[in-house]
Amino acid sequence: MASPAKQDQRTSRKRVAVVGAGVSGLAAAYKLKSHGFSVTVLEADGRAGGKLRSVSYNGLIWDEGANTMTESEPEVQCLFDDLGLREKQQFPISQSKRYIVRNGLPVLVPTDPIALIKSNILSTKSKVCFYLTIEFQIILEPFLWKKYSTSKVSEDDTDESVGGFFQRHFGKEVVDYLIDPIVAGTSAGDPDSLSMSHSFPELWNIEKRFGSILSGLVQSKLSTKKENSGVRNGTTGKRKPTRGSFSFQNGMQTLTDTLSKELGEDVLKLRSEVLSLSYNAGKSASQNWSLTYSSDRNSKNLIADADAVIMTAPVCNVREMKFMKGGIPFPLNFLPEVAYLPLSVMITTFRKESVKRPLEGFGVLVPSLEQQNGLRTLGTLFSSMMFPNRASNDEYLYTTFIGGSRNRELAKSSTDELKQIVTSDLRQLLGVEGEPTFVNHFYWSKAFPLYGRNYDSVVKAIETMEKSLPGFFYAGNHRDGLSVGKSIASGCKAADLVISYLESSTHQPCAEQ
Ligand code: FAD
Repeated sequence: MASPAKQDQRTSRKRVAVVGAGVSGLAAAYKLKSHGFSVTVLEADGRAGGKLRSVSYNGLIWDEGANTMTESEPEVQCLFDDLGLREKQQFPISQSKRYIVRNGLPVLVPTDPIALIKSNILSTKSKVCFYLTIEFQIILEPFLWKKYSTSKVSEDDTDESVGGFFQRHFGKEVVDYLIDPIVAGTSAGDPDSLSMSHSFPELWNIEKRFGSILSGLVQSKLSTKKENSGVRNGTTGKRKPTRGSFSFQNGMQTLTDTLSKELGEDVLKLRSEVLSLSYNAGKSASQNWSLTYSSDRNSKNLIADADAVIMTAPVCNVREMKFMKGGIPFPLNFLPEVAYLPLSVMITTFRKESVKRPLEGFGVLVPSLEQQNGLRTLGTLFSSMMFPNRASNDEYLYTTFIGGSRNRELAKSSTDELKQIVTSDLRQLLGVEGEPTFVNHFYWSKAFPLYGRNYDSVVKAIETMEKSLPGFFYAGNHRDGLSVGKSIASGCKAADLVISYLESSTHQPCAEQ
């Protein structure tokens, strides 16, 4: 095995270009830099962070992109330990209190079956079905599933919708009043358009493996417990217990700011939009890539040479880039168009005395069906209830989401129109009176890629690119999941692939592709 010094000498000659400085690209670049590679991150925008975007203004702090994250992925836990980010983590007050609207009013989402029975979130029939499947899961839910499975879904059907899947297991009311608001709140999507295998791959795989979600969950929990108690390989590689959702002091962008600072200005090139990428096979996997990017400091386009590339730009941007292989165009016509969901994020503050029924907790989600009760928003986070330092002591700060697949046109409305919509919904839900004391509006035309029922074709096309272009790796939220945690894990996995690709090819001639 090479000594660390030798390894460092060897890897330091290797250059990796990372396209995109969202959280996945920054996490990948950080891992590669820590491993001794020479890394360049090219970012089209004038700031790093991508969908992590925090603002501090006049004593207020808010997030215009992701608001919280979890750390279920081991890659996230390692990254936080390495970056010393633990002391900056901020955990919400009463995060288990989450509300869903029923009959025009917020109802606390039950956290256990007894609370579910007492609550009025579901009708008695659905409660009984949901409760029985939770309590007597091994008996009832597998039975229900098997009953429907033969007629509705085949073994290798990866196209089932989220709505179809949950309806098979728990019935329509659970889809309408639990699944619909949850998917709208986490992906801006709707249960009928979203693919189950891409949106909830863990549950999808559990059902495939065990025949039922609930008994599968119990069995996989048991095996995780076993793993955590150190049985696997005789090691004691325990995962740290996680404490739910969290943000950071000063908002989520603290994470990407910390990563950017660690990478340094030499590595991170802002306002550098990648326009074309060219691959030329050499004798070894060395300097086979050359990337052309625009730079506002220079009227001419610039070139970055690299031995490998990690692409984290959204697929819609990749489709606009020109690829060359061996001096001839490499057309990306096999890369399908991805549908995106637009979203407006509205920040409002109200004086505390103007909020007659404030709720403690995380926030409230609005099911589509509640549009018939006059509600037009997707949901609102009680940002300053969760994190009291986000507003002054005498006001509440709320973060409201509008649009998504439920209402694409509404997302594009003017700030004034959206202010009226948000104020009207908050009047009904929380009893706000009068106008907000502060309003901020941020519009994302492409907030989330829609993991639609044909999303397999996107993933397969990405794999084709990787197979056809040696040293090209794709990571980020278009591939491995939408959450911040999954995007980080995706970036770290791509970095690992680059490390083994470059280390294994160091002394081996590269086969002509
Ligand atoms: P991005 O952040 O999109 O980064 C891609 C980068 O590539 C961008 O910076 C872009 O400018 C750059 N780029 C594009 N083209 C080029 C080019 N040609 N050259 C160079 N650079 C280029 N997740 C959660 O876990 N919790 C939440 O609460 C949450 N809430 C969200 C709320 C909103 C409003 C949004 C929009 C997202 C939310 N998410 C949430 C999702 C999560 O934030 C994203 O999925 C994740 O941050 C994506 O990271 P990424 O690095 O894969 O992509």
